[in-house]
Amino acid sequence: MNPLKPESLCVQAGWAPKKGEPRVLPIYQSTTFKYETSEQMARLFDLEDNGYFYTRLQNPTNDAVASKIAALEGGVGAMLTSSGQAANFYAVFNICQAGDHFVCSSAIYGGTFNLFGVTMKKLGIDVTFVSPDASEEEIGAAFRPNTKCLFGETISNPSLEVLDIEKFARIAHSHGVPLIVDNTFPTPINCRPFEWGADIVTHSTTKYMDGHATSVGGAIVDSGHFDWEAHADKFPGLCTPDESYHGLTYTKAFGKMAYMTKATAQLMRDLGSIQSPQNAFLLNLGLETLHLRMPQHCRNAQRVAEFLQQDERVAWVNYCGLPDNKYYPLAQKYMPKGSCGVISFGLKGGRDVSIRFMDALQMIAIVTHVADARSCVLHPASHTHRQLSDEQLIEAGVRPDLIRLSVGIENADDIIADICQALNQA
Ligand code: PLP
Repeated sequence: MNPLKPESLCVQAGWAPKKGEPRVLPIYQSTTFKYETSEQMARLFDLEDNGYFYTRLQNPTNDAVASKIAALEGGVGAMLTSSGQAANFYAVFNICQAGDHFVCSSAIYGGTFNLFGVTMKKLGIDVTFVSPDASEEEIGAAFRPNTKCLFGETISNPSLEVLDIEKFARIAHSHGVPLIVDNTFPTPINCRPFEWGADIVTHSTTKYMDGHATSVGGAIVDSGHFDWEAHADKFPGLCTPDESYHGLTYTKAFGKMAYMTKATAQLMRDLGSIQSPQNAFLLNLGLETLHLRMPQHCRNAQRVAEFLQQDERVAWVNYCGLPDNKYYPLAQKYMPKGSCGVISFGLKGGRDVSIRFMDALQMIAIVTHVADARSCVLHPASHTHRQLSDEQLIEAGVRPDLIRLSVGIENADDIIADICQALNQA
């Protein structure tokens, strides 16, 4: 049979029950797994046999869902994490240690910006943020001899800038390091960064993949393409013996699975942050309809963006599906089927009008969340960034009137009707 297409992978990948086994992926709600001899268990601890022994390292429910995500992205392996934050932390920390440096697009989620710019600096890992729109020469100038990776977000939250993945991959590879891409907003239904040269992909599965706002989670996927051994001096953690694993060298023992095995056997062992099997089960239910939900999010967002653009009470609209958007050409190249359901816009009259508008919404809910089946809205100046003055907001790239609207999969007419009646009251 030919390889399954993405729609079939959403439904079928990861769990192929044999005779008499449950049709639906079971929740292995067990911290531990039984063996018959001490020797069998010892071989697992030495990574000489494959098998489960403790859920902090691996769990069959989690592995089934991870392999579905790996199949969707076209990777060789994946792991689930307890959150998107944990996924991005592990993805970088797996190849960076104290004294190392990495380069990162400045157009990324605020939580990731803080993780990289503040918390990881405290661990001795330095980062340089670069504009994703800067030239290859300008971005290349940020690299140092101790730079270990380049990081970007396919579509940034909340500024909605589209990453030129091929450009970023070229820059990373010309410096002998991998490109890591957070692909949360488009999901592999709309964009598969490995096809454009990315090496590692991360996700906040909390967003569209779960899609129903039930479970916080994350994922890391490896393309298997990056040749760690060719740059062995930069990646001693992968290419030299790991003392905490009896001197095993990940690249020698696991080949294309070296990066994922190290992240599981070393980082997950030492730092925890596993996704609960219950959450992985719910994530799998979300994934089963991802291919149906994403096109509906995109169709609805396109209609809402076009409606907002023609309404004279709206000052500006940012959505890469609009032909006059700065990122329209990149969105067409990397996401021809549609980008995501998140739009940002501002109302004439600024912050006060924005607040009155949001308070008047009836179906669309005010929540600290995006990428949910239900339409939802957030005003960063009043919520996530409320401690900042208008001047500070502008410095941080968040306009005081910016409303982030995550368009759900309801009927677009109802979403627009709710926006209309709220605009009338604002
Ligand atoms: N990456 C992106 C693009 C996000 O939007 C978010 C959260 O909004 C995260 C990572 C962090 O994910 P989580 O909230 O699951 O920790």
